[in-house]
Amino acid sequence: MSARERIVAADKRRVWHPYTPMRQYVDETEPLCIARAQGSRLFDADGRAFLDGNSSWWTAALGHGHPRLVAALKRQADVMAHVPLAGIAHEPAALLAEELIAVAPPGLSRVFYADDGSTAVEIALKLALQYWHQNGRPERTRFVALGDAFHGDTLGAAALGGVEVFRRPFAGVLLDCVHVPVEPSGHERAFAALEHLLRASADTLAAVVLEPVVQGAAGMRIYSPEHLARVAAVARDADVFLVLDEVFTGYGRTGPMWASQHAGVSPDLLCTAKALSGGLLPMGATLVSERIFEGFLGEPERAFYYGHTFSGNPLGAALAREVLAIYRDERILERAAQKALRIRSAFEELATCEGVGRVRSLGMIGALELEGQSGYLAGSGRRVAEEALKRGAYLRPLGNVVYVAPPLNIDDADLDELLAIVDASVRAAVG
Ligand SMILES: *Cc1c(COP(=O)(O)O)cnc(C)c1O
Repeated sequence: MSARERIVAADKRRVWHPYTPMRQYVDETEPLCIARAQGSRLFDADGRAFLDGNSSWWTAALGHGHPRLVAALKRQADVMAHVPLAGIAHEPAALLAEELIAVAPPGLSRVFYADDGSTAVEIALKLALQYWHQNGRPERTRFVALGDAFHGDTLGAAALGGVEVFRRPFAGVLLDCVHVPVEPSGHERAFAALEHLLRASADTLAAVVLEPVVQGAAGMRIYSPEHLARVAAVARDADVFLVLDEVFTGYGRTGPMWASQHAGVSPDLLCTAKALSGGLLPMGATLVSERIFEGFLGEPERAFYYGHTFSGNPLGAALAREVLAIYRDERILERAAQKALRIRSAFEELATCEGVGRVRSLGMIGALELEGQSGYLAGSGRRVAEEALKRGAYLRPLGNVVYVAPPLNIDDADLDELLAIVDASVRAAVG
């Protein structure tokens, strides 16, 4: 047995994969078996290379194995891997909090650490609920989200999610969230409904939760920043909290550091994860306003009795500090702007291709819809991904939506190769 065969045999015998229909996986799939990752490339057990078209589930914004990140991880591991953050201070968590607030939208002043994106959202939901509970508005217990929102998979975060196939089994037990449907043609009516709801039902609403400007898992659906700006203003008038989930859109994925900057909006709570720690370790954070922080002061029973064992862990925090330093030193956002133009023109070119529907791009995201069945379970995207693998790129389509979200610091030559592979693979699959 080769090394690859041994790994795949054990995997198929024992591992239950996330987001994977396991019968089909075990019976029919020859999985990629990745042994190594460097820069914008993944290498499989046989040494074949694949450009990483989705930055390892949107985390590796600085590519794989950035030498400064690897060194920062080793340095911190030598000093201290973990201590609890409950009542203990340590340098990585303290200085990271300062540095995060320094780059955050104005008005955010405190950092509550999470383990990942889902728990960053979970924290935001609980903070909102508890704030109203103990600050005179206990009837504010409902949330509002977009129809095909995605905010993570814990039970709280899943309540906000609108992707039908993810939500269906739990629909009966989820906390109360109103979803405003988004039409295939655009977000106009969804936001009008959202604003109406905010005006009419503010008394029962704890928060409106949004992925700013790009709904990632829904299929890279992009909406006008004006919608976000208006909703933020209406929410402020109604005194309903605005939670912005920047887990995917943060760290320059859409251009500026935060997608909310497209609209000049400051939320009451901001969730970040994924690129926060550069894709080396799970790490998340929920940034909140001083008003919310102060709503938990006073008698001990007003405190936020919540935490994860690894909240603010020194390894993740040290990495996250180094990520911010690399963004500054390597001018990651400025340099990505040129690359974003290449993505835009490559996807615009594909718009004229037979079998391709809407195309869209923003920052370091390019996406297209394949005509025919839509939704997460549509199989057409998978055929493009198979073609791309043959040509040396790894894509992970969302149903009939094929997209790239490569590392922000991908070499121009690698980016051109990735885009050429996407072009050839789409044409091969629809042709
Ligand atoms: C991925 C994602 C999450 C969940 O993050 P995890 O780290 O997978 O728990 C939440 N919100 C958005 C917008 C995401 O893209």
